[in-house]
Amino acid sequence: MADIVLETRGLCKRFGPIEVLRGIDLQVRAGERIAIIGGSGSGKSTLLRCLNFMETPSEGEVLLDGVPIGAPRRHRDGRVTTAYSPAALCRVRQRVGMVFQQFNLFPHMTVIENVMEGLRTVKRLPRAEARGKALAQLHRVGLAEKLDAYPARLSGGQQQRVAIARALAMEPEVMLFDEPTSSLDPELVGEVLRSIRTLAEDGTTMLLVTHELGFAFHVATRVIFLADGVFHETGTPDAVLRHPQRERTRAFLASHA
Ligand code: ADP
Ligand code: MG
Repeated sequence: MADIVLETRGLCKRFGPIEVLRGIDLQVRAGERIAIIGGSGSGKSTLLRCLNFMETPSEGEVLLDGVPIGAPRRHRDGRVTTAYSPAALCRVRQRVGMVFQQFNLFPHMTVIENVMEGLRTVKRLPRAEARGKALAQLHRVGLAEKLDAYPARLSGGQQQRVAIARALAMEPEVMLFDEPTSSLDPELVGEVLRSIRTLAEDGTTMLLVTHELGFAFHVATRVIFLADGVFHETGTPDAVLRHPQRERTRAFLASHA
């Protein structure tokens, strides 16, 4: 079995009285493509944000290549919480790439500057080297000819592909996609899914939150249905999407057909 790249153990996340994640044990192996599905407000984004260290778990831990991130603290009542230091966060965030529903490009920077930004400021690469790496990723998403354009001049689909190139440029071990096509006009969804599919064919390890169930069926190696803060049902795309065992999963799929 391939190595576990990213893992959570007993991950819980609360916002005040709301318990969003209630003990998630997830293992992501190299080359896996995991689709996460679930209703609005079920905690899909919160899970990805914990995996990208943008949220600190209320309990449990996140491990990258088998190493717990942050300093775990074991409490008398058995709970384990984690304290993240800013320096550790900066190191580990580079290894987990994230693409959001809103593309979050820097509006005052051109396409190539957007893709180079992390390489320059975080990885501190020389300009020429950063530019070369950025161009290679723009080629991958089919946007090399737009390198000098500003984001406002691009379609939503093109902006999202730039955001994908920007995340890839950091050469992360795993890519997280949070509903990457949800804010796009329908005619622009296909081009973004094609870029993601290309990455899948290259063997990129990824977690993808999506409502595009057809896409998930064809691209994912595993599908997880998140409900009530736990993995309600998980299995192959065929098992979860075509032959769900649990009533709740069936109801969700019926409402998204
Ligand atoms: P999903 O992505 O599945 O739609 P989210 O992870 O965004 O769900 O949100 C799950 C729940 O957590 C929702 O009830 C949401 O209102 C709540 N939530 C998310 N982020 C915060 C926050 N920063 N503060 C308070 N509540 C939050
Ligand atoms: Mg969300």
